[in-house]
Formats: sequence, C-alpha cells, structure tokens
Amino acid sequence: MNATRRNLGFIGLGIMGAPMAGHLLAAGHRLEVHTRTKSKAVALLDQGATWCGTPADVAAGAEVVFTMVTDTPDVEQVLFGGGGIVTAARSGLIIVDTSTISPQATRDFSARLAQHGVALLDAPVTGGDIGARNATLTIMVGGDTAAFEQARPVLELMGKKIVHVGASGAGQMLKACNQILCALNILGVSEALALAESSGIALETVIDVLGGGAGGSWALANYGPRIARGDYAPGFMIRLQQKDLRIVQEAAQAAAIALPGTALAQQLFRAVESLTGGGDLGTQAMMKAVRQLSNRPPPANDAPRGA
Ligand code: NAP
Repeated sequence: MNATRRNLGFIGLGIMGAPMAGHLLAAGHRLEVHTRTKSKAVALLDQGATWCGTPADVAAGAEVVFTMVTDTPDVEQVLFGGGGIVTAARSGLIIVDTSTISPQATRDFSARLAQHGVALLDAPVTGGDIGARNATLTIMVGGDTAAFEQARPVLELMGKKIVHVGASGAGQMLKACNQILCALNILGVSEALALAESSGIALETVIDVLGGGAGGSWALANYGPRIARGDYAPGFMIRLQQKDLRIVQEAAQAAAIALPGTALAQQLFRAVESLTGGGDLGTQAMMKAVRQLSNRPPPANDAPRGA
C-alpha cells in the first residue's frame, strides 16, 4: 500500500467509530462505511463517505477494513455472519478490529480468516470519546507484523501512540489490563469526591489542587469535571465497561489470577445500573453508587437518573 489515497472501509459508527472514521476521510482517503443504524452514518456520508448495505460490500472494495462494534458476538457477526466480510474476502485484505472483545475469540477469528488469506489485527484503543475526536488515541495492536506495518500509517491518523504488542490477541489482553485501571481509577475518583463533598470542599477544588499531584489521573481530569457539573452522559457507557470487566474476569480465571478490586468495581457498576435503570450512563456515574452507599443526597445539579 502507498501513503497516498487508499481504499478504506469502516464498520460501526457509534461514539468512537464515527469520529475515528472522520479522520480517515479528512486525510483524503476513499471511505466505504456500514453500521447497524444508518442514521449514525449521515454526517460521514455528507463528508464524502460511501454507504454500503453490508460488511461484505465494504470489504469488496477496500484494502483495509476497520471494525468498531460493540462486543465479541458483534465482531463475529460482521466477520462471519450473513453478508459478513468473509463472504467477500480477498487474499491480502487486512481487517483491523478496534472494538474491545475477548482475546481468545480474537485468536480464533484470526485463525479462521487466515484460511482465506485475510489478516486480522486486534487493535483496541484507549483515550475515550475525547481521544477519538482529537485523534489522540493509544492503539495497542496484536497480530501479524507485516500487516501491522501496512496498517500503521492509517492508524496514525486516529491515534498518537500506536504500538505492536505481540501476536494475535495480545492487543486485547493489554486492553483488558487497561480496563482494570479504568475501573479502579473511577472508583478512587468517586470516593475522593464523595468525601470532599461531605466536607464542604468544592469538587472543582479537588480537581484543580490534586490533579497535578500523585493522586491525579486521566479519570480525575476528564471525569471529575463531568461529575462536578452533574453530567453523566457517556463518554464510555457503563454497559460497555461491564462487558469489558467480564472479559477481564474470564482472562483472569483462565490465568488463575485473583482480581478483587476489579470485582468490587463490577458490583458497584451493577448497583449504578439498578439505580439508574440500565447501563447507558457514562462510567463517571460510579459516583451515584458511592453517594448512595452513604445515603448522601445527590446535589441539586444531579438529575435523579443522571441523564
Ligand atoms: P457505541 O456508541 O455503542 O458504538 C458501537 C456501534 O457499533 C453502534 O453504532 C452499533 O450500532 C454498531 N454495531 C454493533 N453491532 C453491529 C453489527 N453487528 N453490525 C454493524 N454495526 C454494529 O459504542 P462505542 O462507545 O463507540 O464503543 C465501541 C467499542 O469501542 C466497544 O467495544 C467499546 O468497548 C470500545 N471502546 C469504547 C470507548 C469509549 O470511551 N466509548 C473507549 C475505548 C474502547 P447501533 O448504533 O445500531 O447500536
């Protein structure tokens, strides 16, 4: 592949996928897109992307196809289901799956695709919706080294740190480690903010004074202000984090590793799901469970269900 105009495809245009695909278009590449709910593609179609009715149609014309869908069964559907990529597979096609899914399933998918001459890179991301919009994602890649080198220039349009971490599934395993950090960081942020709040310290003061110190974190800097203004819109939905923590615990079970902190965060997210009628809020809504445990009333700017 050359560094000029490429034929690319993108499947899954939600919170993350839509802005990531937008960067590929903005760089001048030809882009064919598909997602389950077509209305989510409208902005990209207006910018020059071409709509495809199935993942197979995307794959038919592309050198590299990106997927950014929800969970392991969704990736399986896009790859191997009716109208799936494999039905249009050409030898040499590279699929870059940026979704967060099971490392073991990734290895299985990769082996099945290899029979068609198709390379699958697992390339999960971190950096959140902000990183997707600003093209500052960290992208951790597993799979064939030559395929990675071919895909790297395009990955660089969406992220600022692109790292090949090992064989198929290695990217997803590193992402599982990342989700442990995310889950426990937002718990720490919520507990610190709850104590400050109960003591009459403004949440903005906590974020400002502590943000640059040893207790500072991405979660405090990015989610702290959202909590302070009662904004629980996702970002990163709790139901997706619960999906990721399930993947983490499956991997930990297979490796006989105990992860008690992660299990606690999982249970607290479950409490938020019960309190708010589902998992559609952002993970910063962990704050709701922490307040509830101490029977602390939510502040005036905090809507009952946080939406
Ligand atoms: P999202 O907004 O729900 O986007 C997922 C998109 O994939 C939706 O538009 C969905 O369609 C589409 N989709 C799902 N299954 C499909 C299928 N079989 N065929 C075609 N399209 C399908 O979620 P997101 O926040 O962008 O997250 C996407 C992935 O990135 C997840 O694996 C998540 O864990 C991971 N991730 C998210 C973040 C974050 O901060 N949000 C950060 C890092 C990684 P519908 O619109 O019809 O539902």
